Amino acid sequence: MKPSRLKVHAMEEESRANGPGIRYTLWLQGCSIQCPGCFNPATHDPSAGVWMSIPSIVRHIQSSQAAIDGITISGGEPLDQALELADLLEAMKQEISLPILLFTGYTLDEISDDPDKETILNLVDAVIFGPYQRNNPSPSGFPGSTNKQILLITNAYTQKDFALVPAAEITITPSGELILSGTDPYKP
Ligand code: SF4
Repeated sequence: MKPSRLKVHAMEEESRANGPGIRYTLWLQGCSIQCPGCFNPATHDPSAGVWMSIPSIVRHIQSSQAAIDGITISGGEPLDQALELADLLEAMKQEISLPILLFTGYTLDEISDDPDKETILNLVDAVIFGPYQRNNPSPSGFPGSTNKQILLITNAYTQKDFALVPAAEITITPSGELILSGTDPYKP
């Protein structure tokens, strides 16, 4: 039987610091890469987070669909749940017609060496790949470090679309909680 749920760290309905435009952003829980200096260590433990079914994730995104330009899958390391992520992306492609951007800490060679991970490249529109390197910070803060590259898989985006993405944002939830996110949220 196909897996039908993923371990989720957090979701944000309208993010501006996780790719071009206003984006629904889904952070998956668990990361085996462990980049030194990672600014989101709370996403690393695969036993933390919450399980969510694929239909419930899709419904959640659909409820924000009118307000967003695209969807971002981040983490944690999304490709550590590659089989389940493939199921989610296939469901999203059937139900939601918006471009999808994936952040991964794996290199393209590492992705190509694993058929489960490589499958994901056929299900997204763009990938920002490579581990975070704290000694090589991106001048603008996005996408975190200079070794990271943007791979355009479809024509949904151009490289220019990523030029103005801010490195960080602070979101205030209806309950007053402050959420700091982005590719380099501590950049001054
Ligand atoms: S930067 Fe991304 S890939 Fe690297 S340890 Fe942090 S969550 Fe994992």
